[in-house]
Amino acid sequence: MSTTTFTIKGGTMFDAVAGAFRPNPGIVIDGGIIAQVGGAGERGDVIDASGKTVMPGLMNLHGHLAWDGFSDLEGQSRHDGPMGYVKVARGLISAVEAGVTTFRDLGGVHDTGLVARQAQRDGLIAGPKVITCGRAICRTGGHIWYGNREADGADDVRKATREQIRDGADWIKLMAHSYTPEELSACVEQAHDQGVPVTTDAGVWAELAVDAGVDCIEHGGDYSDELIATIVERGVWIVPTLSPIVLQAREGAAWGMKQSVIDRRRGQLADKGRHEGLGRARRAGAKLAFGTDSGSPVVPHGAILAEMQQLLAFGVFEREIDVLQAITIRGAELIRQVDRTGSLDEGKTADVVILGGDLAADLTVIERVERVWVDGRLSVVDGSARLPDPRDFRTFTNIGA
Ligand SMILES: [Zn+2]
Repeated sequence: MSTTTFTIKGGTMFDAVAGAFRPNPGIVIDGGIIAQVGGAGERGDVIDASGKTVMPGLMNLHGHLAWDGFSDLEGQSRHDGPMGYVKVARGLISAVEAGVTTFRDLGGVHDTGLVARQAQRDGLIAGPKVITCGRAICRTGGHIWYGNREADGADDVRKATREQIRDGADWIKLMAHSYTPEELSACVEQAHDQGVPVTTDAGVWAELAVDAGVDCIEHGGDYSDELIATIVERGVWIVPTLSPIVLQAREGAAWGMKQSVIDRRRGQLADKGRHEGLGRARRAGAKLAFGTDSGSPVVPHGAILAEMQQLLAFGVFEREIDVLQAITIRGAELIRQVDRTGSLDEGKTADVVILGGDLAADLTVIERVERVWVDGRLSVVDGSARLPDPRDFRTFTNIGA
């Protein structure tokens, strides 16, 4: 039950706010909330974390639960039908087993993100909390049109934005490619009017998107100093996603990827200047959170380490601590929930991970996930997802007359 009281003792704790590891002072969880950090005594069951690391739950803030990393995006989006929902279930499990307690789904196949969010909330399946854009919005025939809401012209883009918000979108995801400044502005104005933030897979459209007032840009890339100055001034977030390049270059063959694509990815990976703008943006003061683009080809939902290592290899971040803050407290800031999650502080919801080793000494320990709590609910034990108890959820109480 989520109301269980317990204490995690021993080991090392990652203090996400301070950006430091320190001896775990003892963390009391009560009713799904971090009730006490340090101080006298222990309450309820004691979980011994000696030799281990206690982390805030990880945040993968760019992924696609309807996709499995295996199949080509268009094929699975157009032809899989209800299989997309099975993939959602598998994706939720894989993500939480990797320590992810919050997942931002940025478009899949029609309503898969909304279904994922509801399935997790209802306790149908173990998984991270899902924040979703519903359907991404693109121009007719635009990028990933087969799963998106296609919209053309400012009025239609505005309507598409309203539709996503009506259906329950937490964010609007706009495929900025080929949209005019008027169309981009129509989306951003409408979303902001209704209190919903906007993100975009900007690429070369980044400048127009930032001018239109988006809150976040995905993937990142080659930014001019002028654009970086605007990004910093307006507080626009960047979620770099390097995993597709890294994992396709490294493991594409094992996933059945075409050699020509693998070769192209290897070239991109060897090009140190390709992502230089991201490091420049960060040094200039831009805010960066963490996302892997999981679900896209050769990026399974459980893959976290490759992104971390590549962020360091490309110099996007200089210190491991910075990456660990990006995947915890910075993520909470991006999703505007820093008062509720992102660090192991009193009063926050218990999104907690125990890793089987010393993360401060070895970043690869991030892959040794032993236990995960999502909102204080034990969701992973010994590295394996655990089905929620349906009796903990009101949705199952409506039986008979
Ligand atoms: Zn994506």
